[in-house]
Amino acid sequence: MTARDTSRPAIRIAMLGAGTVGSSVAKLLALHGHDLAHRVGASLELVAVGVRDVSKERPGIDSKIITDDLEAVATSGADIVIELMGGIEPARSLILQAMESGSSVVTANKALLAAEGASLYAAAEEFGVDLYFEASVAGAIPLIRPLRESLAGDKVTKVMGIVNGTTNFMLTKMDEEGVEYADVFEEARELGYLEADPSLDVDGHDAAAKAAILAQLAFHTRVTLSDVYCEGISSVTAADIQAARAMGFVVKLLAIAEIVQGQAGEDAIVVRVHPSMIPLTHPLANVRGSFNAVFVTAEAAGEMMFYGRGAGGDPTASAVLGDVVAAARNRVLGGRGPGESIYSGLKVLDIGKASTRYYVNLDVRDRPGVLAQIAQAFAENGVSIQVVRQEGHGDEAGLIVRTHSGTEEALSATVNSLRKMDSVREVLGVMRVEGDQ
Ligand code: NAP
Repeated sequence: MTARDTSRPAIRIAMLGAGTVGSSVAKLLALHGHDLAHRVGASLELVAVGVRDVSKERPGIDSKIITDDLEAVATSGADIVIELMGGIEPARSLILQAMESGSSVVTANKALLAAEGASLYAAAEEFGVDLYFEASVAGAIPLIRPLRESLAGDKVTKVMGIVNGTTNFMLTKMDEEGVEYADVFEEARELGYLEADPSLDVDGHDAAAKAAILAQLAFHTRVTLSDVYCEGISSVTAADIQAARAMGFVVKLLAIAEIVQGQAGEDAIVVRVHPSMIPLTHPLANVRGSFNAVFVTAEAAGEMMFYGRGAGGDPTASAVLGDVVAAARNRVLGGRGPGESIYSGLKVLDIGKASTRYYVNLDVRDRPGVLAQIAQAFAENGVSIQVVRQEGHGDEAGLIVRTHSGTEEALSATVNSLRKMDSVREVLGVMRVEGDQ
């Protein structure tokens, strides 16, 4: 096949934000301009870049197109507006203005999509433009397009992934070096891995925003950040991680969205983010350091794993440019990308309805009958025990219990009963266990 005709007018691109990701997008657009023009069928021209501080050096970007008048950039009537500022406002208003001006929008803004996705989709529909957001979840990893398009003919039943590289870096360090959370938090801060507000990473909010986006795409149901149960990693101890190791498990912060059975047996969904133990044999167990990976289960396709770099200027820019090419092709050839798909209207249930397994670490009094009493507490709540391990004797006596799967409600009721028992001095650690074993 011969190369496409690229003589048609250039596709005009405006960009809001030129920080870590935006500067990489500008660089790669210039570097690969020739190839991209052939892939699109028209050249791509960066015509305006909006920033906060116009005096900053921006190597590779013509200073004549840099402005702090963001509204002018958004309403420039460019074919495509790329939003790489982050945050809710003014990004949201600017995107809406861009769409109203007839521009397709490419964004990497997970916070905005998780909170305000519905209004962005609605505006894209109203003004007949595209909304693409591959880079909003798991950086470079192609994941949004597979869920939105490649798996559109299948029924996805579960999405489970490591979608925050910073917390994965921290948990990997705790696992490999036996260090405590406070030490690894300092190291992540010194390396500049943590967001300006570290709570976005360590309390799970960043992962929760991504979980909401993935759940909506996977289950064709509107899911927002407030629907996601969210628990971070700050209470994970080196002892939990050691106990996990001893049982053949590793601790990961997982984002999980899955189909569960509602009260009348109908399909519903639960979306949750929390630290989990997974077997060392599970593919997600080998995702170390700042890498991301998402494990998707679909009825016909079976199990799939998407793995790669979840952040960084160039990796994220790769995903942004993939979206730019898609939106540009639509301009050249006519047609539009997929819109919002929320036809199934499944109920989003509370985490209590999720089915999971627990690891419980107990400091117990070393006296006859303790084990039987503890087993009784599990049985009374309908939770069956898979493994019990005893550690130490006398004042140091400890019990580690791993359960079979049960509802979160039953498991947490069991832990509450254990806390009240005289023979249990302290519940030292509780963690959910995921992955088959
Ligand atoms: P960044 O380095 O902080 O850059 C933000 C850019 O937006 C800067 O150029 C800044 O201008 C501009 N900006 C921000 N607020 C503004 C305002 N109110 N008015 C004018 N300009 C404003 O951010 P980033 O890391 O590139 O991230 C951009 C987006 O990509 C975010 O939504 C983020 O969540 C997403 N993302 C990032 C990564 C990553 O690895 N960094 C990965 C995946 C997704 P100045 O340059 O003048 O300050």
